[in-house]
This record gives sequence, C-alpha cells and structure tokens, in this order.
Amino acid sequence: MEFKYNAHERSLYVTLGIIIVLTVTIIMSIHTTFSYLHTKNKILQEIKQSSKETVVSLQKNVTNLIKSYSINEYDKLIFNAMQRKDNFAIIVEDYNMGKILGEKSFFSGKIRDAQWNIVDYDSKNSEHGRALKKCYYSDKYEIISDTGSHLGTISIYISDNVMNEELNKIIIGSVINLFAISLLLILSLFITIRFFVLKPLSDIIEVIKNHDDDGIPVDLIPTHGSKEIFLLSSTMNHMIISIKNSRVAFKEQKSAMHYQANHDALTGLANRILFNERLEQSMMKAKNKSSKVALFFIDLDHFKGINDSLGHDVGDKILKVVTQRLSKIIQKKDALARLGGDEFAIIVEDLRHGQDASLLANKIVKLLAQPITIDEHVLYISSSIGISIYPNDGISSGNLIKYADAAMYKAKDEGRNNFQYYSSEMTELAFERVVMDTSLREALKNEDFIVYYQPQVNGESGEITGMEALVRWKHPTMGLVPPSKFIPLAEETGMIIQLDQYVMRCGMKQMVQWHNQKLKHGVLALNLAIKQLNQKDFIPMLKRMFEETKCKPEWIELEVTEGQIMTNPDEAIKILKQINEMGIKLAVDDFGTGYSSLSYLKRLPIDKLKIDQSFIRDLPDDEEDAAITKAVIALSKSLNLRVIAEGVETQEQKEFLVQNGCKHIQGYLYAKPMTASEMGEILKNGFIS
Ligand code: C2E
Ligand code: CA
Ligand code: CA
Repeated sequence: MEFKYNAHERSLYVTLGIIIVLTVTIIMSIHTTFSYLHTKNKILQEIKQSSKETVVSLQKNVTNLIKSYSINEYDKLIFNAMQRKDNFAIIVEDYNMGKILGEKSFFSGKIRDAQWNIVDYDSKNSEHGRALKKCYYSDKYEIISDTGSHLGTISIYISDNVMNEELNKIIIGSVINLFAISLLLILSLFITIRFFVLKPLSDIIEVIKNHDDDGIPVDLIPTHGSKEIFLLSSTMNHMIISIKNSRVAFKEQKSAMHYQANHDALTGLANRILFNERLEQSMMKAKNKSSKVALFFIDLDHFKGINDSLGHDVGDKILKVVTQRLSKIIQKKDALARLGGDEFAIIVEDLRHGQDASLLANKIVKLLAQPITIDEHVLYISSSIGISIYPNDGISSGNLIKYADAAMYKAKDEGRNNFQYYSSEMTELAFERVVMDTSLREALKNEDFIVYYQPQVNGESGEITGMEALVRWKHPTMGLVPPSKFIPLAEETGMIIQLDQYVMRCGMKQMVQWHNQKLKHGVLALNLAIKQLNQKDFIPMLKRMFEETKCKPEWIELEVTEGQIMTNPDEAIKILKQINEMGIKLAVDDFGTGYSSLSYLKRLPIDKLKIDQSFIRDLPDDEEDAAITKAVIALSKSLNLRVIAEGVETQEQKEFLVQNGCKHIQGYLYAKPMTASEMGEILKNGFIS
C-alpha cells in the first residue's frame, strides 16, 4: 500500500501561522476597542474640564475688560488661552461694545484656520460660521458683573481633530504591537516546532524511509526532541523490535515447517515432494548442458518380511543403515531421497552415456547385499534397482519416475539383487560395461596385459628407426582384447593412468634389454593419455621410472593425440615443455583430426607429426586425402618437424608418401604389432623389406 502526500493538507507552519495571526488580531482588536473608548472618554472629560477652567479664568478678567471696553486686551487673553491645541475657537459676545456700535452685541475672538493657525474671528465670515457648527463640543457662559448686569457671553469651541489624532495614534500603536507580537510569537513557535517537533520528526522519517522489503525500518528510530517525540519514538522502536523478533521466530518456524514438509522424519532424507522438485531441476540442468540424468528406484528385497517378523524398530534401524550406506556411495551433487516404505531414489547428474550409471548401480547392489548387524541379528537384505535415463527414456519427470519404477519391478522379476534399465538393450550394454569395469580392475591388479611393438621404418632404405608400443589385454576367457575395447573405459574411469604406467615400465625395461643385447632399437614411441600429463607427480614419476629401468630419455618418444592436446592447449604446452627438457621426444598422434591452430602448433615443444591413418587408407587415389597428406608434410617441413605416416598397408601408399617427402612409415605393409621376442628377432636384422 502506498501513502501519498495530499497537497490540500496544509503544512503545520501555515496552520499555526494562521491561528496565531487570528488569535492575536482578536485579542488586539478587543484591547484596542477598550483603550480607544477609554481614551476617548478620558480626553473628553479632560477637554470639558480644561475648557471650563479656561472659561472660568477668562470670565473674571474679561468682565473687567468689557467694562472698560478694552477689546484688545481681552483679545490677547483669548489668544493666550487658544494656545491649548484643541481649542478651536473662543468667542466673546460683548453687549457693551455692541451698544456703542448700535448692535445687539459685538463679537470678538479667535478661531483656527485650515492650517490650524490662530486668526481673528469674523462674525460675518460664513466660513467661520460653518466651521463653528462642525465643532465637536462647545460651551457658552454668561458674563455677569458684580452688580449682576449681563455684560455678554463667552463661548468656547473644541475641535475633535486633536482627539482623533490621539485616537489614531492608539490604533496605529495597536496595529504595530499586533504585528510585532504576532511576528514574535510566530517566530518563537516556529523555532520551537522546528527544533522540538519537525527536526525530530524528519529524523524519524529519514530512518523510516530506509526500510526492508516488508516496510520495517532497518535501524531504530532516534529518540531526541520533545518528551512527546521521545514517547512516540520509543513506542515505535518497541514495535519495530517486536515485529523483527516475531519475524525471526516466524521465519524459523516456516523453515522448520518447510524442512518437515520436504524431508522424511526417520532418515532425514528428502521426501517425495522435494525429490520431484530436484528431479525437475536436474532435468533442466541436463537440458542446458546436453548431458544425461539417471533416475534410480531402489527397493529393498525381503524388507517386508524382516519388518513383520522382527518388528518396526528393527525395520527403522535397517532403513537408517541403508540411508548411511547410500549417502556414502553417491556424489555430493547427486540427490538421495526416501519415497516411502523401503523405497529409495537417487538422481545422478552429469552423465555422458546412460550406461555410465551402471557402475554406481552395480556398486549399490553389492553394497546393500552386505549383511547388516542389528542388535543380535545379522540380516541379509538385497536390493532391486530400476533405472530410467533422461532424455533417452522420457523428458517428463512423471514418465521417468514411471519407467524407473517399471524397471525396478523388472529387476525383481529377474530374481532381485540386480539392476535393470528401463530399456533392455541398455541393460545389456550396461552389464557389458560393468563386467568390463570389474575385470579391467582385476586385470590391472594381476598385470594381465602384454605390450606389442610395431616397427617404424625408413621407407627409402627399409632401416628400422624405432617402434610403437601398443597394449593388449590378455583376457582369461576373451583372449587378446584390442585396445579399442577397453581404452575408452579405462580413460573414463581413470584406470588409464595405471595402465599407461605399466606399459611404459614394460617398454623401458624392454629397451634396456635390447640395448644390452647390442641391438639397434631406435626410439620407442609410447602412447600417453593426457589425463596422465595432468597428474601432479607425473614428471617425478617419469624420472623415477628412468632411474629404476636404466632406460635413457633419448630412447623414448611420447605420443599424445592432437585432439587431447587441443582440449586445453595452454596447460599441455606447460607440461610438454617440462617433458621436452628431460630429453624426451614428443609426437602429435592422429594428426589432422584435431583441428590444431597453427599458433598453438608453433608454441608446442614437439618433434614429430604423425599423419592419421584415416588419410592414408585411400591414398593415392582419393584426391582430398592426398591433398591433406601433402599439406601435413609441407607443414611439418615449414615447422621443422619430422613426419611419419601410420596405417600404411600398400606399396602405392608408401611410394606416394616417400615421393612427397614423408619417408618414415609405420603399418601392416612392413609389420603388424608383435610380441617383444618377435620384435627382437627383427631388430637383429635391423632392416625390413
Ligand atoms: P594409435 O596410437 O593410433 O595406434 C595405431 C593403431 O593402428 C594400432 O591399433 C595399430 O595396431 C594400428 N595399425 C598399425 N598399422 C596399421 C595398418 O597398417 N592398418 C591398420 N588398419 N591399422 C594399423 P591398436 O593397437 O588397436 O591401438 C589402438 C589405439 O589404442 C592406439 O591408436 C592408441 O590410441 C590406443 N593405445 C594402444 N596402446 C595404448 C597404450 O598403451 N596407452 C594408451 N594410452 N593408448 C593406447
Ligand atoms: Ca599412437
Ligand atoms: Ca595414431
């Protein structure tokens, strides 16, 4: 939910400003009205009082002056009395003087003009008459002599000009006060609000803004500011802490629930739900990597019988032992699950061939056939395993599971204690492989191998320049097994390392023997799997072998196939350099099939290229093969390398090669690979025709 600031919501400053101005205005208006009325009243009283005093003091003097007709004199008195600012006019009505002038009375006095100057009053001046009428206040007194005769009157006129000025001053003063007070109030309030409310609030907002996905602030809220802010912040902090705590508890609870929902309580293995998830993931990965996934369904044979006869406790213990055994045998990346009862499942990833899974299946069958001792019982349970392969058998997890299950029932039908693939051909292939794997291991242990030698000949002279060691397996039932049948399996399982070392040792010993017999043996070419080179202790091992056999490094040439070098050329260059430094020659086997780049070829410390037999087979008629062969010969010349052709079977092939500059020949034309003693016989001659 998103909360938006609404522009109609006034800021605190504006609201407070308006309230303060209104309040101060009302207070000041009331105050001003009171003081206005009060002042007005007071001034009026004062005016009345002072005009009365003025008149009373004038009355006495004027009486005598009227009697003596001293108009000028009382005019002066009036002028003096007019000095008080608010006196607008003082006029004396003189009956005595009037009588003399033949009128009822004579008017004399002072009045103020527009500029507020004191001028003589003229009773005939209509302006004066009008001005007098407008006066705010007037008073008239009789002038009576001691004898009681009426001498005239004296009138005083007061203007409200001065009073108004005074009152205006009050109003202006109030307005100024109003402003000053409002300003002061607003300022002090703003400062208070700013430092005690708004600043802490904006600090709080700043902290609240930095929140996690659930909207809970990452940090606690600062508690400085007023007491109210402190209370607010503390309460909020309290809330944040308790929300965070309950969230942690909730997460723990959730993950515990998630674990329970996805795992088997007895063994702690993944259950069917998690297993399905894992299978989908593995299939996805395999699809991206174009590899294969094997799905194993493992069912324990005779488990139900044991469970029923010895009880569930023993049954549970068996399941735990089985779990331990299976966990140990699988790789980390493989997934093991218990689907229920005595049913387990394994997902094996990253397979190149479907039948590769058979090695693991075979191991599991053997492992689970081993007796389990529980309490005083020695129990024999075996297992039946069904295997389905992604994508060969199916591309949906549902089908793979169905097929593995079906294969598992087939394994039961086959008499239990075995594994079956979903497809029967696969099972056959796999059995062959399993059998080969076990017997190859046996063979390595018993050294059931024999090294054959095939001569390499100078095609021009027929002189033997060297030979290639080629291994054969002396199988107890199959007879001599050719390398093509077991080298790929040996490479995959890593047994090739041990095998190659065996061939090397045999070959070296043989060379020393021939040397001691004073035979001209030339160079012995040994085939080497690149896996061997990547072995850390390969160089020391090689050195030890030379010491042990007394073979000389210069008698040996190592053959590495072009394809193997080019899978990781930089690494190969490093190792081959070390070998080269020992004085051992290096040849690139099966040259022309591995797409070497010329730049790598230049950097490789090699001595010889061996043209692959696939190019020789159809020589000299096949134009393309002829062209390639010529090109390889030209390349070897330009790189200053020696060149040899293998698989040469006919005279025409040999002639073509020799004519085009490749005089070293290996092939059935001269001799097939042969035993050491046969080779010894040929060496005695030194030539071959
Ligand atoms: P390679 O290194 O290319 O060996 C040459 C193969 O061609 C040998 O097969 C040899 O018997 C065969 N050959 C020789 N002349 C002719 C011919 O004129 N015509 C025909 N058709 N074939 C000929 P072999 O002995 O069956 O060996 C096969 C492969 O097994 C070898 O190919 C080599 O890659 C591998 N290999 C053999 N012994 C060993 C070994 O001790 N260690 C390793 N790592 N690989 C070996
Ligand atoms: Ca070879
Ligand atoms: Ca070859």
